[in-house]
Amino acid sequence: MNGAKVSSLVVAAHAAVERNKDEIASLDQAIGDGDHVFNLLRGFGAVAALVGTIEQLPLHAALKLSSQKVLSTVGGSSGPLFASLLLGMSKSLASDADSEITTDKVADAFAAGVSEMQRWGKTGTGSKTMMDVLIPVMQEFMKLAQSGASARQILVSLPKVATDGCQATKDMVATKGRASFMGERSKGHIDPGARSCEVMIRAVCEQILSDATESKNEEVHE
Ligand code: ADP
Ligand code: MG
Repeated sequence: MNGAKVSSLVVAAHAAVERNKDEIASLDQAIGDGDHVFNLLRGFGAVAALVGTIEQLPLHAALKLSSQKVLSTVGGSSGPLFASLLLGMSKSLASDADSEITTDKVADAFAAGVSEMQRWGKTGTGSKTMMDVLIPVMQEFMKLAQSGASARQILVSLPKVATDGCQATKDMVATKGRASFMGERSKGHIDPGARSCEVMIRAVCEQILSDATESKNEEVHE
């Protein structure tokens, strides 16, 4: 995995957020200020402009550069949170940059990214935020990687965990972020950040699966 791979995943996640833009916007209009998806799309636009550079970089450097770009363009609560995720992943991968990137290492990097986000956002699960998707996905990823599950099993399982985490935010009362100002009235709405994370996780997993299927087919036809 390298910068070229990252850029294809960024393109897939960007397209998925764009497809779900109206829904995510209306979720943030209900319990926030409506800007979440537009913040995110601005970040994707800025990272997309760097694709030529990112493609030349090793994974940890591509993640670091993306993190800096996200921090300077996304804004809101989610900008520094997504920037922390990317930076935490970058630091984890940089510590062992010369050896091959394995599934275990990606799982560890994702866990490091989520923990960096938690240092910033100071919350775990249950407060109706994107952490209700990211933490269970990270835990499942770690569990499957440690048990030696195949990449395919992991890529099929994580989107399901993301969907469950996202749906669970509907019955929660927000205790963090702008939605917490609504108190009990935040109940009954899915959290926009949880939904955008679900959409991105699904898109990334599906993209990796389809790339793997394509390269298998190419092998068969060679
Ligand atoms: P803002 O609320 O400042 O307008 P955004 O609209 O970009 O920021 O992002 C809102 C999302 O940020 C929420 O839906 C929620 O998922 C997430 N969020 C808010 N506060 C936190 C926090 N402390 N930790 C984790 N996620 C948070
Ligand atoms: Mg907002």
